[in-house]
Amino acid sequence: MEQHNNQPNKPPQDNDKKPKGSIWLPLIISLAIVLVISGIYNMVSRSQYTETTYTEFRQAMDSGNLSEVEMRYDRIIYMTKEEDQKPASQRKAFYTGLPNGDALALAEELYQLGFKVYQPIVEDNSLITMILYNALMFGVIFLFMRMLTKRMTGDGMMGGFGKSKAKVYMEKQTGVTFKDVAGQDEAKESLQEIIDFLHNPQKYTEIGAKLPKGALLVGSPGTGKTLLAKAVAGEADVPFFSISGSDFVEMFVGMGASRVRDLFQQAAKVAPCIVFIDEIDAVGRSRDSRYGGNTEQEQTLNQLLGEIDGFDSSKGIVCLAATNRPEILDKALLRPGRFDRRIIVDKPNLQGRLDTLKVHTRKIKLSEDVDLQKIAQATAGAVGADLANLVNEAALRAVRQGRKTVNQEDLMVSFEVVIAGTEKKNTVLTDTEKRMVAYHEVGHALVAALEKRADPVTKITIVPHTSGALGYTMYTPEEEKFLSTKDELLVDLRTVLGGRAAEQVVFGAKTTGAANDIQRATSLAKHMVTLYGMSDELGLMAPAAVQHQYLEGQAYLDCSQETAATVDREVQKILDTCYEDAKRVLTENRALLDEIAEFLLVKETITGEELMAYVNAAKSDAAPCATDEDFDEE
Ligand code: ADP
Ligand code: ZN
Repeated sequence: MEQHNNQPNKPPQDNDKKPKGSIWLPLIISLAIVLVISGIYNMVSRSQYTETTYTEFRQAMDSGNLSEVEMRYDRIIYMTKEEDQKPASQRKAFYTGLPNGDALALAEELYQLGFKVYQPIVEDNSLITMILYNALMFGVIFLFMRMLTKRMTGDGMMGGFGKSKAKVYMEKQTGVTFKDVAGQDEAKESLQEIIDFLHNPQKYTEIGAKLPKGALLVGSPGTGKTLLAKAVAGEADVPFFSISGSDFVEMFVGMGASRVRDLFQQAAKVAPCIVFIDEIDAVGRSRDSRYGGNTEQEQTLNQLLGEIDGFDSSKGIVCLAATNRPEILDKALLRPGRFDRRIIVDKPNLQGRLDTLKVHTRKIKLSEDVDLQKIAQATAGAVGADLANLVNEAALRAVRQGRKTVNQEDLMVSFEVVIAGTEKKNTVLTDTEKRMVAYHEVGHALVAALEKRADPVTKITIVPHTSGALGYTMYTPEEEKFLSTKDELLVDLRTVLGGRAAEQVVFGAKTTGAANDIQRATSLAKHMVTLYGMSDELGLMAPAAVQHQYLEGQAYLDCSQETAATVDREVQKILDTCYEDAKRVLTENRALLDEIAEFLLVKETITGEELMAYVNAAKSDAAPCATDEDFDEE
């Protein structure tokens, strides 16, 4: 009830000022343009012709002195033979008014003499025509001006010139609630207070508690930040304004700041409400030069800071902003009273992914065989947007195939479309190539299967994908892991290098297919040395710092050249050791490797269970005799 009282209270004067301003201005401008144009037109036509009396014209006509005549609706323009003889630069043309009443007769006469005659229009009509003509011109110009002012926002050049609301996007009711946001429980909890406040600001103001003006949602793209902001609006049942930070800066100079002002003005009218600024880093990046700000962006940022300080949070405006690079934000934005709350929106874990899949399959008819748990397991690292996309792809596939329900296969295939690239059956591999790919993939899978505890692989395939991969091995994370020990990382490294190791062990050759593996392995080893303090030589020293923690988390070296050389050496050492280990594991299990690779060559795609059947059979065959001893020192 509180929120509805606010609405009609303050804005009335504002309300009727606005539309007037935006119509009157183009109106006046077009009027001025029309006046100026017709003035100029008159001046030009005056200066071109010399005015004479009608009698003079009549005389010239009667004496046969006319060389050219043009009869217009309001005048007669003519040229005499005398003038015709003069050089072109001195020649003069004349004009005179129409004769009173007998314009038609004159036209007839001139026509008979063989002159050009336009339909003469009687004098009182000519006034109307002129008015019509000018009105038409006015109309066209006016429409044009209106269009122009609609396109332009802000008041860069002419105070208040066209305050268009383009791109500010407002929803009265978002219709999204927390039920639509899967997982993200911690974020929801932090946002609960804001909802409570929007419901009942008085409860807070009575005690004298100051309310948060804003909160910053931090997380990777597609994790549902926008969705959460909408859900807050939906839960609190208030309007939702949203604009993207990049919208502020892409426009003309000076526009950004006035957009900010505009946005908050609009928001104030319908408060309580949520103002959501997506990609705030586009405007809010630090003003020091390291990240290259510019004056336009600074102005916009200053305006934004001003607006945030300016609005009275007891009115019920809450500003939410989203970013994936909080570290580049200007410190001023993060000061108390501004975006001082930071809400982390993480990539979903297994349970989160399962919930997200459930949310998105709510409205989709699923067939009995669908096992969302499996999909969730297979999609480690995927964000909410990926999963939403995956479900939609699956539904589309079901429709394409003329089915009424979505089945597990649809979901698995879509997983490959969305996350691994589409299956491409027409890339033809020679038999040797195929063998190499098969051994390479089994190399990965076998190292993983022998070194890790649970079932590590869900699928191995040598069907080429459009992404360029000739085959791939899909791993299942045994459980969500937040911590990895050094040993686990080493196992990962051996697994990644297992592909190349198999090539070497079986064919004695190195292929280009391992390029991606090698990059991944190198990057992992680098992290171990430079960030996790896991190398022998450097010990606990971390010679690198992490940038963009919420994007890819790239690390850059920040150390002396000697240290950098040591880093390289250590990385090399780790990689070499892991590679040798992988080769050793595969050599020891060569029979198993051959067996599985042959099976894969026949079937092209095998499941994790099939793989484990081979591995477990081999394990129980081989007595627990010492496998390590034969190849002890490598
Ligand atoms: P962001 O703003 O973080 O880039 P969005 O909020 O725009 O991500 O998410 C894009 C889409 O992904 C949403 O519209 C929604 O369909 C889906 N999505 C993302 N996260 C979730 C989630 N936690 N629960 C349900 N759907 C989600
Ligand atoms: Zn590989």
